[in-house]
Amino acid sequence: MKILFATSEAQPLIKTGGLADVSGALPPALQDLGVDCRLLLPGYGPLLDRLGPVREVAHLGGLPGGLEGRLLQGSLPNSTVPVYALDIPVAFQRPGGPYQDVTGHDFPDNAWRFALLGKVAARLAGPATPLDWQPDVLHCNDWQTGLAPAYLHYQGRPTPSVMTVHNLAYQGIFPPHVLANLDLPPQSFQMEGLEYYGNLSFLKSGLYYSDRLTTVSPSYAEEIQGEHLGMGMQGLLANRRGSLRGILNGIDTGDWNPASDLHLPGSYSARAPAGKKQCKAALQQELGLVQEPRAPLFGLIARMTHQKGLDLVLAVAEGIVHRGGQLIMLGTGDKLLEQAVRVTAARHPGRVACFIGYDEGLSHRIEAGADCFLMPSRFEPCGLNQMYSLRYGTPPIVHATGGLRDTVENGVTGFVFAEPSPHSLWLAVERAFDLYSRPAEWKRMMLAGMHKDFSWEHSARQYLGVYQELAPGT
Ligand code: ADP
Repeated sequence: MKILFATSEAQPLIKTGGLADVSGALPPALQDLGVDCRLLLPGYGPLLDRLGPVREVAHLGGLPGGLEGRLLQGSLPNSTVPVYALDIPVAFQRPGGPYQDVTGHDFPDNAWRFALLGKVAARLAGPATPLDWQPDVLHCNDWQTGLAPAYLHYQGRPTPSVMTVHNLAYQGIFPPHVLANLDLPPQSFQMEGLEYYGNLSFLKSGLYYSDRLTTVSPSYAEEIQGEHLGMGMQGLLANRRGSLRGILNGIDTGDWNPASDLHLPGSYSARAPAGKKQCKAALQQELGLVQEPRAPLFGLIARMTHQKGLDLVLAVAEGIVHRGGQLIMLGTGDKLLEQAVRVTAARHPGRVACFIGYDEGLSHRIEAGADCFLMPSRFEPCGLNQMYSLRYGTPPIVHATGGLRDTVENGVTGFVFAEPSPHSLWLAVERAFDLYSRPAEWKRMMLAGMHKDFSWEHSARQYLGVYQELAPGT
């Protein structure tokens, strides 16, 4: 089975979010199953620097805007997964990030930049490929590669495609006039195509023209067919439900392993859990909390956005302190939320602490040192932190949505609450306090979570199943 995995970011080459984690982990996991999976990425400057030795494998002419480019081949660091980098310096080598300039504004020509990526993905997937390798299936990810299935469609669909939605909130919407520069026929701009309320949506193109759709958890796959979380795409998604699959992301079980995690002051495992106490004491000290081994310590790590339900946590912070608990919050994002978090911590010195910023090491130390993890997201396509918490013996308290609902078992591995409201969260926090006061039962819950398997192998097998439906016999 040969797969071309087209994506706009992949760990450890370039990352802005969870898409990079999946793109860096799933192709090696597929390779372990015997799949010949290769990545296609834009040749951003930092990506080319990190890619190491590359060789030019193709010259590409006739691209949207009359451009030419080169295809450079290297491999994903720490693996043998081949990476094709699309080298078009005028499009991809700029100061700033993959999508935005240094001031945080989207590049004005993003439609054209990612049309280039989609166009090249479709060309490599079809019979006109300049390579001596042609995939059986093209796997696209999020709006940045959403035009590729449309290009394939207008080539007569020589190769089937899969479109994976990592977060439906990002849709790649552009004014209709950009179409003239994208090498797509005018008739593609219609409701049965890539038109979206008078604009052009790259994501809708992928959702409409691809042969299979996947998203990152079974529950999210259901939820996005409804008005509440469908973000305007629910009609199309409900129509295509027969082609839509929810496949949970895995986690990097090498990076996230309490038995060998170099960020931690002590190590532990399900068989020898004692080191967790040492992690808790060190965390309390690091963030200036009172050294109380038996005070239930609640942790939170999140981008500080409305999605993540920080406001709900702040609403129960006082209650946690009154019941003798402690709270640690790590994150960055919305300035008003950051300020509210700071104010709450300042009001309860020694009991509530926060760190505003991005700190990978601290995120590991919170997962290990906290007793219980808070993740009251209003919606969550998959979510990683709750899986890290389970693995680190830190039962999570989660809202029953998306991947949270699919990974946490209420009363067995953690606590699941129904409504994204302070009252509903508080009832779950009280259940955690009660169970924590019964150490044997608490330990049983910790161990139940630590024994769960969230490795990528399981996810990769399900993706392979989707590919096999599209290319039977390979
Ligand atoms: P999302 O992708 O919506 O941000 P996830 O739970 O899927 O949420 O993944 C978030 C990832 O980013 C996790 O690995 C989490 O630990 C990490 N993270 C988020 N904020 C921070 C932060 N401030 N410092 C360190 N790691 C963070």
